[in-house]
Amino acid sequence: MTDVQPRFHREVTRYDLVSRSLTVSRVERVAPDMIRVTLSGAELAGFASTGPADHVKVFFPDADGVFHTRRPDAEPTGPVILRDFTPLPHDGELALDFYTHADPGPAAAWAQSVSVGDAARIAGPRGSRGVPADVSRVILFADETAVPAVSRWLELLPASVSVEVIAMVGDGDWVADYLGATTASVNVVGRDADTALAALSALAPIDESTFVWAAGEATQLIPIRRHLRRELGLPKEQVVVDGYWRRGAADFDHHAPLDPTDPEE
Ligand SMILES: Cc1cc2nc3c(=O)[nH]c(=O)nc-3n(C[C@H](O)[C@H](O)[C@H](O)COP(=O)(O)OP(=O)(O)OC[C@H]3O[C@@H](n4cnc5c(N)ncnc54)[C@H](O)[C@@H]3O)c2cc1C
Repeated sequence: MTDVQPRFHREVTRYDLVSRSLTVSRVERVAPDMIRVTLSGAELAGFASTGPADHVKVFFPDADGVFHTRRPDAEPTGPVILRDFTPLPHDGELALDFYTHADPGPAAAWAQSVSVGDAARIAGPRGSRGVPADVSRVILFADETAVPAVSRWLELLPASVSVEVIAMVGDGDWVADYLGATTASVNVVGRDADTALAALSALAPIDESTFVWAAGEATQLIPIRRHLRRELGLPKEQVVVDGYWRRGAADFDHHAPLDPTDPEE
């Protein structure tokens, strides 16, 4: 007999934190502003990621091409440059999709300059949080940086769950192609939170078996979370809102509060 989990329960799997030295095996443009860098190598053995919103830390080299990492037994020998990315494991390789935004930091710049055969380094994931149990419908708000995670939600959710994507992207013609054959409905609304919330209100009401996930620019997500949690009164296990980056902040920490002025954070 299998255990019946309470609604919205998400299985947590923890992994040892492993840092992996890999090689770039392919570089492809998978959308006008999205570059897929595929990594391979013997150190991918044992890599696991079973959660739709997992992330790995991707290290970037300094100006001399040297990767500096934090090791428990030694001080780093130079600047440790890392950013969070969604792992897309497939057939023994690991793809990372980089949105080439207008103000590229080390991550977006690396994706645009890297070549097959170059060295790459990742660490993690530290753990995976699986898809929620016992849901019939999932609504996903996602900007460009979260569209790779949407592809993982579509891959990991049972086919019986209906998925509605509210894509908060600048130019959205590519999103349906990027996501490939899917039964999900994809509504491209632009980056503005009010327009995204108008798109939400045009959908069927959120019922007790609907889970909502939102990720993208932190400031744009504040009104979305407020609407879901305060105006609709959804309990916290039914809603996850994750700031993947913040305008004007390099190396934004997604554990930081979305809204530092909100005492209820
Ligand atoms: C859990 C998680 C998963 C993520 N998965 C992905 C993923 O799969 N693909 C992906 O592309 N990103 C992903 N991100 C977002 C990514 O980590 C950030 O966008 C990161 O800041 C990019 O690093 P950078 O070096 O290019 O820019 P930074 O050096 O961090 O920032 C430089 C400047 O660029 C701005 N900036 C950063 N990101 C954007 C953006 N998207 N649009 C416009 N301006 C921006 C910053 O505000 C800053 O002013 C994820 C983030 C998290 C927390």
